Amino acid sequence: MADILPPGARIGILGGGQLGLMLSLAAARLGYRTAIFCPDPESPAFRACDRFWQASYQDRSALAEFADAVDLISFEFENVPAPSLDFLSARQPIQPGIKALATSQDRMLEKDFLSLLDIPVAPYHDVATAAALADAAQALGYPVIAKTRRLGYDGKGQVRLYGPDCIEAGWTALGSDLVIVEKLIPFDREISIILARARDGSMRHYPPIENRHASGILRSSHLPAQIDENCFEQAISYAHAIATALDYVGILTVEMFVIDDRHEVIVNEIAPRVHNSGHWTIDGAVTSQFEQHIRAICGLPLGASDALGRVRMENLIGDDISHWQKILSDPYAHLHHYGKAAAKPGRKMGHVTWVEPED
Ligand code: ATP
Ligand code: MG
Repeated sequence: MADILPPGARIGILGGGQLGLMLSLAAARLGYRTAIFCPDPESPAFRACDRFWQASYQDRSALAEFADAVDLISFEFENVPAPSLDFLSARQPIQPGIKALATSQDRMLEKDFLSLLDIPVAPYHDVATAAALADAAQALGYPVIAKTRRLGYDGKGQVRLYGPDCIEAGWTALGSDLVIVEKLIPFDREISIILARARDGSMRHYPPIENRHASGILRSSHLPAQIDENCFEQAISYAHAIATALDYVGILTVEMFVIDDRHEVIVNEIAPRVHNSGHWTIDGAVTSQFEQHIRAICGLPLGASDALGRVRMENLIGDDISHWQKILSDPYAHLHHYGKAAAKPGRKMGHVTWVEPED
C-alpha cells in the first residue's frame, strides 16, 4: 500500500451505524469520500457517504463491487464473517488488520491473547455444555458471568449466575455451545483507554475515560476519570502493549475494570474500532477519535488527543431521544441525533456532550 492515501480517495467502511456516520463525517472534513456496506436499510451512515451497498455481509457480488469502488477498507462493526473479510482482503487492504478483528471477535481468543501478554483479565474458562458450565462456575467461585464467545454487544449474550440453581436457565438463555464463563469482578469503576496507532508505530492516547453502565449498556462517560496515578499508568501501558502486539493501525479501545483499594486494573475487552466511550472527543478533544482513525489508516500524522476540559457524555437510549428539544434548550449541550426511525428500548438513538473548560 502506498504510504499515504491522499484526500479525494474513497474509504470503504463495513457497518453503517452511528459509528460509520461519524467516521464518514470526519473523513469528509479531511477531503475523503466514503462508501458504506451494511445490511440494514435504515443505516444512519448511508446519509453521510457518497456510495453505499445495502447487502448481506455474505453477498460476494456486492462485496466485490464495494471493494472495487474503494481504495482502502476499514470497519465500524467487528463481527463481519471471517470468510467475507478474507474475500475483501484479497482485493483491498483492510485496516486495522484481520488479526485484531479475529482476536476481538471471540472472547476466548481475546482473553488467551491478553494472558499471553501478561495482562490481567478476570479468571475464565471456556465451556461447551451446561454440566461443564456448572463445574467451571464451581471452580471459579460464584458469582460468575457467562457470555457467548461470539456476537455479543451491549450486554447481550450474557448471564450472571449466582449459584448452581441458575445454571439450567442460564445455559438455555445463552442459546450457544460456545461459551466463556468469567468470575464476576467486584470492581469500583469501569474505564476505557482509546488510543490511535499510526502506520509508523507512533501512538497517541486519550485521557482515561470513566464509564457508567446500566443493564450492560453504556449510559455515560466522564472525564477526568477518578483513578490514581498507578492505575493510570497500568491502563496506558496495557493499551500500548495490546496495540503494539497486534501491529495495529487506527483507533483501538480497551475496556477495563479498576479495583481502587488494590490499585489494580483488569482488562475486560478490546474493541478494534472507534467506541461509544469516545464520542465526547468530537466536542471535547483537540482531534476526535473519528478523525484520528481516518488519519491513522490513511497514513497521515496523528493529531493531538488532549481533552479540552471536564467532559460528560450521556447516551440517549430508546425513548430518551424524545427529549431532543429540551436538550437543545441548553445552549452548552452538544446534541448528536443519529436519525434512527424507531426508538426501540435499549437502542442507542443519540448522545449529548458537555465540555467545561478548566481554568
Ligand atoms: P459492550 O458492547 O457494551 O462493550 P459487551 O456486550 O461486549 O458490551 P462486556 O463489555 O463484556 O460485553 O460486558 C458488559 C458489561 O458487563 C461490562 O461493561 C461490565 O459492566 C459487566 N461485566 C462484564 N464482564 C464482567 C466481569 N467479569 N465482572 C464484572 N462485570 C462484568
Ligand atoms: Mg464491553
